[in-house]
Amino acid sequence: MKISRIEHLGIAVQSIEEVLPYFRDVLGLEVYKTETVEDQKVKTAFLKVGEVKLELLEPTCPESTVQKFLDNGGKGVHHVAFKVEDGVSEALALCDSKGIRLIDKAPRNGADGLHIAFLHPKSTCGILTELCEE
Ligand code: ZN
Repeated sequence: MKISRIEHLGIAVQSIEEVLPYFRDVLGLEVYKTETVEDQKVKTAFLKVGEVKLELLEPTCPESTVQKFLDNGGKGVHHVAFKVEDGVSEALALCDSKGIRLIDKAPRNGADGLHIAFLHPKSTCGILTELCEE
């Protein structure tokens, strides 16, 4: 697997609107895109920090996995997304062959035009890990 960089950090929030004053007015970061991802049941807002993005994740319903994360006391960093240069499908096959538990068996469409797949935190030192490619 060839990972070129951290593509983004996913940050779970109960309300994007409520946290925006911190990211925008204190840190001086700009939201360049908002998008609702229906199959993940989240509303997202993207901010850029140099080449790395922050993906704010707000649950759109109680069944959202992000809502469950928040309900279980999770707050803040929700996942780390690595940009994979040699393909998410190939990376998943490699992870599978090494016994890493996969959440997604195949890449799917994520926010901001990415193909993504998640690895289970039980296999990744507790860090929900997203592999992505453009
Ligand atoms: Zn993400």
